Amino acid sequence: MLNQTVISIQNLNHFFGEATLKKQILFDINLTIKAKEFVILTGPSGSGKSTLLSLIGCLRSVQQGSLNILGQELNGATKEQLVQMRRNFGYITQSSNLLDFLTVQQNIQMSLELQPDFSVQAARAKTVAILESVGLREKIDVYPKNLSGGQKQRVAIACALVTQPKLVLADEPTAALDKSSGRNVVALMHRLAKEHNSAVLMVTHDHRILDLADRIVHVEDGKLGLALNQELSLMLPGFDEALLEKANTKPTVLTYASEEIIVRQGEPATKFYILLEGDVEVFQDFPDQPTRLLNRLSRGDYFGEVGLLRGGKRTATVRVTKNSEVKVMVIEEELFQLFVNNSELTSNDVVRRLHQRVMTSHLSKALPNVDPSEIVAIASQSKGSQYKANSIIVQQGEFGDRVYLILEGEVEISVIDQGESRTIQLKSGEHFGNVQFFDGQNYPVNLRAIACTDVELMAINRDSFCSLILKSNTNSDIVASVLHHQFLNL
Ligand code: ADP
Ligand code: MG
Repeated sequence: MLNQTVISIQNLNHFFGEATLKKQILFDINLTIKAKEFVILTGPSGSGKSTLLSLIGCLRSVQQGSLNILGQELNGATKEQLVQMRRNFGYITQSSNLLDFLTVQQNIQMSLELQPDFSVQAARAKTVAILESVGLREKIDVYPKNLSGGQKQRVAIACALVTQPKLVLADEPTAALDKSSGRNVVALMHRLAKEHNSAVLMVTHDHRILDLADRIVHVEDGKLGLALNQELSLMLPGFDEALLEKANTKPTVLTYASEEIIVRQGEPATKFYILLEGDVEVFQDFPDQPTRLLNRLSRGDYFGEVGLLRGGKRTATVRVTKNSEVKVMVIEEELFQLFVNNSELTSNDVVRRLHQRVMTSHLSKALPNVDPSEIVAIASQSKGSQYKANSIIVQQGEFGDRVYLILEGEVEISVIDQGESRTIQLKSGEHFGNVQFFDGQNYPVNLRAIACTDVELMAINRDSFCSLILKSNTNSDIVASVLHHQFLNL
């Protein structure tokens, strides 16, 4: 169900008019939308967005090419088949299509009456439930003329979603609304569609709602493409059209296959990348140590900025995750520098902000139920400290308020286990001083860390460390590695 294809369009063309007046409106459209995806379609007025939406919505017949919806080919479908297919959709237009002579409840019930399993009682319950979720329970017996524009659109959303359709098509649903109610209406639609597992294809000009999209596609002169300019200004606020005009290079898109390397540590850095689709992993190599996985990135994350802003060499290797296929937007150095130079931030701020954004999304994945800002705060309060070879880090009996994570070098811990003494070697990335060694507040007599080489440690407040383990319901290894990555990225 999760990866089910809802819309699959191949080489679709569409024409209006006859003979000498015949004019091509859509050119070789290719588009796939999967279950649960929220896709926004943008483009200038007259570019063909509504025509495309009406073809997908079975309001017109397909002339050329393939349009397959929920597994059924619509090129060559009969009128009856088109009508049948429409029952799988919710449709929302610019001005709500509510019927003025029916109450809110009767309007919603109309959508339900088209369903094969319709019953009056179930319909009433479903109507109440959907009105509750759009916050209009008390308007159930009201006529549309007594509702505001935003309320009407919320009822239109209720009509479109009450049948739990596989696909919701929306043509500029916020055009007639003011800014804040526009965003509220779309955010509501977004939430309900995700709850009902509906795919959404929404046409909009409204730039303030682009961030809700899983993907943005762009139509221009009847041709469909990735919406690079929109993606760019969404992902790097401040990167506007005016800036793009000034540059000699334009962003491009590259596709990489499973496990392909996109940038390699040590190589010269000349490009900045934004992930549009798929997942990548970031690795770092240190001399004489196993390769370390630093990060996993997904749509909306970026990489390559550190190399561009510091030293010109790649500091890590970025590789496509196994079984993933990746589309990246590639921004040449010149365009990236133009952005940095035109932004009010220093290049250090840019690096920090970019990292913060990427890290925040990863922190919330790595430690569920923990607010990423809490992790950032703990990592920034943690101190890094150096120890010479053979110096003692933790004494027996010392007050134990810290967990130590090894950043560089090695330490040796002596543990007395049932009267017998043994030593444990710990390497970079490992930690000690955590909860299982504790007996009350003091480091037990049997814990003594001796540095055999010069070491660099990160000292983390023990209570904060334990609280992250409890809240996230994970273990000390995961918490240590998350704090480690965050510390390195500060
Ligand atoms: P958009 O929704 O992107 O503003 P439309 O899909 O409504 O664009 O229109 C695309 C082009 O097709 C426009 O040039 C428009 O004038 C033309 N067009 C739309 N509908 C018809 C029609 N029924 N007959 C002839 N031309 C049409
Ligand atoms: Mg239109």
